[in-house]
Amino acid sequence: MNVLVLNAGSSSLKFQVISTEPDRIAKDSDERLIRGEVERIGGEAIVTMQSHGGERQKTTAQLRDITAAIRHLVAANGQEDIEAVGHRIVHGGERFTESVLITPEAVKGIEDCIDLAPLHNPTNLRGIAAATEVFGRKIPQVAVFDTAFHSTLPEHAYLYAIPYHLYRRHGIRRYGFHGTSHRYVAHRYRQLRALAREQTNVITLHLGNGCSAAAIRGGRSVDTSMGMTPLEGLVMGSRSGDLDPTIVNVIATKEGLSIEQVETLLNTHSGLLGISGLTNDKRVLLEESAMHEDHRVRAAIDVFCYRVRKYIGAYLAAMGGADAVVFTGGIGENSPAIRQQICEGLEWAGLRLDRERNQALAGSEGAITADGSTLMGYVIPTDEELLIARDTVRIIRGVPHPS
Ligand code: ADP
Repeated sequence: MNVLVLNAGSSSLKFQVISTEPDRIAKDSDERLIRGEVERIGGEAIVTMQSHGGERQKTTAQLRDITAAIRHLVAANGQEDIEAVGHRIVHGGERFTESVLITPEAVKGIEDCIDLAPLHNPTNLRGIAAATEVFGRKIPQVAVFDTAFHSTLPEHAYLYAIPYHLYRRHGIRRYGFHGTSHRYVAHRYRQLRALAREQTNVITLHLGNGCSAAAIRGGRSVDTSMGMTPLEGLVMGSRSGDLDPTIVNVIATKEGLSIEQVETLLNTHSGLLGISGLTNDKRVLLEESAMHEDHRVRAAIDVFCYRVRKYIGAYLAAMGGADAVVFTGGIGENSPAIRQQICEGLEWAGLRLDRERNQALAGSEGAITADGSTLMGYVIPTDEELLIARDTVRIIRGVPHPS
């Protein structure tokens, strides 16, 4: 079955076409037919497309909205090929604990979660509406939620210590995000080590533009660093991560900003960008710091790595120990220097980095620790789209979820 995987953003659409079937999943013989992205939807859009084994092609087209963008990519590839659509949906609240077939009821459920993700869920819903418009109701669609994998968090990990009625009334609790990525790398880790799901005890670190850590015990997420929104936890490209909530009021008062403006500042002008004053791009920061000493660039990198290490320690305590730390995401997969700095000083926990192994891994999969380490380190490139395609085909074929 050819599954079109869609990740609809406010002005962009990431897509892949993946051919898969339940019996091919076990053999890892899924096939990626097309991948690409449409950026700047709403005007002269930039379309990047790469078909299996082909060259990456970049073109421009006048694309008014997501519907026009989907029509454009279907026209370029042939509609009869698409047999199902899988959507990445950011927030499933407490209602969606796993992927679901998209029905009018499911759409209503995603709408009910808009309050929790006012920026993301509406764009995701526009993606569903656009796919329905283009393909009609005959082609089944499936929703895969960023939050679902973390629905197994125990109460002591998801409750904030604020008046309980605020949780009841407004759903204020930790939900966690990047769930599809954490789930994928945990799955891949146990495949690499030939373990059963119940034997999977790992700390997964998704370090990309957004960054989050997850504590996975017995194959289930038992804690994660992002909270009610993706702002909490690790330092990110432009998000602050953890801070004292009083700071919001202090910034608003001292800088004459509204609460909304402070929220924007914490989401888009903070993190690596905020400290360095230069960029949210880790690669650029590393190049800068290699070329000349800049205190703020160094501080941005140091704060970032220290926060990750602190979470590793916290999750080791939360889980009663782990077997491995798994790095993924743009930074986690590609930056040996950052991995090394994070792992420095974790020897007490049994993590002994093998510098050569670590240096050799960029964008590929494998161990980065010395043989005999009791806490292993792995790099596993994430593949959220593959998991979305697999969930889609499993649900449509009626094959039970493996996890
Ligand atoms: P997203 O979270 O949006 O999916 P990615 O996982 O693609 O983002 O990660 C993007 C981040 O990865 C950027 O900050 C980029 O600078 C960083 N990155 C990519 N390659 C490298 C590299 N070789 N060294 C350091 N950082 C890198």
